Amino acid sequence: MSENGKLKRFWLHELTRPAFEDWLDNEPAPVVIIGVGSIEQHGPHLPLGMDSHGARHFIYEIAKRTNSVCFHPCWPGYSPHHMGFRGTVTFREETLLAVIMDTVASLAEHGVERFIISNHHGGNEEIYRLAARLAKNYYNVMVATPRGPSKTELAQELEDRQKRYWDVHSGPTETSAALHLFPELVEIWRLEGWEPTLEMDPRLFEFMDPDREDFELVSQVRSACMPPVNIDFTSSGVYGTNDPRTASPEEGEKMFEEGVQFFVDFIETWKTIPVPDAFKD
Ligand SMILES: [Zn+2]
Repeated sequence: MSENGKLKRFWLHELTRPAFEDWLDNEPAPVVIIGVGSIEQHGPHLPLGMDSHGARHFIYEIAKRTNSVCFHPCWPGYSPHHMGFRGTVTFREETLLAVIMDTVASLAEHGVERFIISNHHGGNEEIYRLAARLAKNYYNVMVATPRGPSKTELAQELEDRQKRYWDVHSGPTETSAALHLFPELVEIWRLEGWEPTLEMDPRLFEFMDPDREDFELVSQVRSACMPPVNIDFTSSGVYGTNDPRTASPEEGEKMFEEGVQFFVDFIETWKTIPVPDAFKD
C-alpha cells in the first residue's frame, strides 16, 4: 500500500504496481535500500542465514523510518572461504556483482535515482563496493554505501574487541545481534564446553594486541598469513578467541539501534540535497 507517496508496506516484493508507482511519483526523494548478506556456516550456534536475516531486519527498519522501499535480491553472497563447512552456498564473484548491478539497472530504468546498498557480510566487501561504483557510472544514479557510526562508545568497544580477539565471525558481536533479532534461530546450547579453536603460528597470536605500538603493521602481517579457506584455521567455524556465550540481546539491540539511526540520519540529510544535474538525462 501507498497513499500520496506514503508507504504502508516497505518490501518491494510486497507492493502492488500502483502502490510502487504512487510512492515513486509522490515521495519527494525516493530511496531504495538494497541489502546483501550470505548463506554460510556461522559456527555451531548461529543460523546459516545469519547475515541475510540481519540484512533484512536492518533494511526493513530503515525503510519503515524513512518511507523508503527495501529489497533483498538474494539470500547467498560471496563465501568461497566458508565452503569447507557444509551448508554454505556461495555465488561466484561475477554472479553477486551481476545480481546487484541488474537490481540497480532495473529500478533505475523505472526512475529511481537514489540507492543505498547495505552489506552484512565481510566477504562481499570488494564486490558490493565495485557494484556501487559501476552502477553509478553505468546507470547514472546515486548509489550510496554508508558505514557507521564508528565513534560511539559501543562502536569503539566493538572495534577494540575485533582487534584484540578477532571477534569478526560468529563471536559475541554477531551472537548479540542474533539474540536480539532472531533468538529463536540461535542454538546457544551447542556451545557447551566451547573453547577457542583459532589455530595459527603462536607468534601471530602475539600480533593480536592493539596496545602494541606496531599493531598497525603486525596486524596486517597476521592477515597476510591467514589461509584462504577458514576450515584450515578454525575447526568450530568461529573465528575469534572470545567466548560467544558472553553475548547479550541488550548489546545486540543497542548495536542495531545505533546502526539503523545512522542510516536514517544519512537518508534524511541526503534528501535535503536535490539530485545534482549531472545525474539527469
Ligand atoms: Zn556473519
